[in-house]
Amino acid sequence: MSPHDLALLCQKQLQYTKHLNYMLQQTSSDVLEKQAKISEQLYSQGTAKALEGIPIAFKDNFCTLGVPTTCGSRMLLNYVPPYNATMVEKVLEAGALMIGKANLDEFAMGSGSTDGCHGPVINPWSMVTTPSGERLSPSVADQSSDGSDWFVAGGSSGGSAAAVAAGACLASFGSDTGGSVRIPASYCGLVGLKPTYGLLSRHGLIPLVNSMDVPGIFTKTVTDSAIILNAVAGHDNKDSTTVQESHTPIQIDEDIDISKLNVGIPKEFYVPGLSEEVVTVWREIADLLEKAGARVTEVSMPHSRHCIICYHVLCCCEVASNFSRYTGIEFGLRCGSEESTEELYAENRHHGFNDVVRGRILAGNFFLLRRNYERFFLKAQRIRRLISNDFKNAFSAGVDFLLTPITLSDAPSHSWFIQKDSRTRSAEQDVVTTAANLAGVPAISLPLKLSRQNLPLSLQLMGPRFSESRLLSLAHWIENEVQFQHLDLDFHSVEESAENQFQFNDVIRK
Ligand code: GLN
Repeated sequence: MSPHDLALLCQKQLQYTKHLNYMLQQTSSDVLEKQAKISEQLYSQGTAKALEGIPIAFKDNFCTLGVPTTCGSRMLLNYVPPYNATMVEKVLEAGALMIGKANLDEFAMGSGSTDGCHGPVINPWSMVTTPSGERLSPSVADQSSDGSDWFVAGGSSGGSAAAVAAGACLASFGSDTGGSVRIPASYCGLVGLKPTYGLLSRHGLIPLVNSMDVPGIFTKTVTDSAIILNAVAGHDNKDSTTVQESHTPIQIDEDIDISKLNVGIPKEFYVPGLSEEVVTVWREIADLLEKAGARVTEVSMPHSRHCIICYHVLCCCEVASNFSRYTGIEFGLRCGSEESTEELYAENRHHGFNDVVRGRILAGNFFLLRRNYERFFLKAQRIRRLISNDFKNAFSAGVDFLLTPITLSDAPSHSWFIQKDSRTRSAEQDVVTTAANLAGVPAISLPLKLSRQNLPLSLQLMGPRFSESRLLSLAHWIENEVQFQHLDLDFHSVEESAENQFQFNDVIRK
């Protein structure tokens, strides 16, 4: 398929699935088609770059030059950045087509993409099945009008995940601070990669928790994930936390010798509330690896049970500090009365932020009070070290990778999800994801099979820092073994859907 046809096809998918509410800003067809034509020329001259003509979307917390970047918050509804985030810059330099900005939870705080000011994202798999088993095509308005329901896309990068699952682009970027790429990848049946902290630049990614934020990648296949990663990884002068060395391209080892691998099953990740279906798939993949000759052993990561609380204390503290910039003076909504500076700040911040954000700012300021600093912030820092040491100990005892669940079940229904308050939701949804962020290790969410409700079930693989090459090679091996059936929304003629494999290797090879 040519870049031009591909761009048209993605736009068509986007058009058909618009009601899923995953895309906030869409690049105009004229611009896309013009760029696709240029890509086509470069292919024919043999000078196409690594991502030439590949449609890619970005979560709306990556700064995009001249394109609004709202973070799903009223606070930034009018913010138009004067520069591109390094991730955006790098994919554009590599020839990709930016198709739009994707919906999210406000300032990336959440696990369902139900909390942004632009409304919830609907999981594209809802178009195939509903909780009662029939096929429908819900829109956000449906629930309030006739009580029908849908499945959540997962968050906070749910818009980016839904965009790839619905076929509106071949890859997308999200941000993963505590699981926000891996959870939506799991619910939407995608490969979701959270790279090692420091491998990808965060310059221009509007910060949530600086000590944990990483850009993450959504694709349908592991190979696609490696291609994107290679195009964007490595040192960035504008982000001092990035690796110093230049990036050695990741090679997927097609002949990985599974019998040489030692895979750890951390017993503490067998958490209360895990659905029987997730436990089964966990056992099945462990068995698959064992049959192929891997040593699969139970390991202990004793501090894992503290991850959620540790994550939340540190998250709130960094949020309290980071979000002090949104006063309505330099950044953000200005709507307050100007009687006093305090009142102006308070009103701007009250109207600009939702209660999730306000709650975290308040909690963070409380944890950071002089009398609380040691009890909360310092203690959480120490626990973080212990959590990180659990990983070091497992890896230095000979474990190559850890295999764990990623979400407790398949995608929950929207009505069930929003019954609980945001803190409970995060505590439940992020229970196995935050560990990788606290330790800075790479983790990948891999779709494996469909649940009884016909929704994706996934697992997580984690490895030592900078082990992406081997991690992706193992993920690729499992992917080949399980042959997960991706969502095919089937909006096209038979002829079109036969071509419509969404694997951009083909485009690149042409
Ligand atoms: N759900 C977590 C939170 O709300 C993770 C968010 C993220 O990874 N951006 O903090």
